[in-house]
Amino acid sequence: MSKANTRMTKQRKEILKILRATKTHPTADWIYDQVKKEIPNISLGTIYRNLNILVEMGKIRVLNYGSSYSRYDGVPENHYHFICDSCGKVFDLDIPVNKTLENYISEKTPFQIFNHRTEFYGLCVECQEKN
Ligand SMILES: [Zn+2]
Ligand SMILES: [Zn+2]
Repeated sequence: MSKANTRMTKQRKEILKILRATKTHPTADWIYDQVKKEIPNISLGTIYRNLNILVEMGKIRVLNYGSSYSRYDGVPENHYHFICDSCGKVFDLDIPVNKTLENYISEKTPFQIFNHRTEFYGLCVECQEKN
């Protein structure tokens, strides 16, 4: 393996470690700030490139909410999210993914279903207490 590839792997490992250690579904900017503590000369472009590779490898997931920014998720398996309308925080929902719904749509439509994504919106506990 070339030196450049080894360095890439180190960066990827660091990004993955940071993503696996947080439940906040951070943006690339936040990940960049964390990785810089370990690899000070890394660029934001390199972070984006490695995030895309990790998504392609199926190690992480990307969540696109609107076109302005993406959030990254260290949990690669399909799961549901709750998004707070007030503070914008993204939470994992510890409930099983509804395969019945996928089967139903497979039966009722001509489409072949692989996956589905569902987001729930409302107020998180912290924001409920503020109101
Ligand atoms: Zn909130
Ligand atoms: Zn998640």
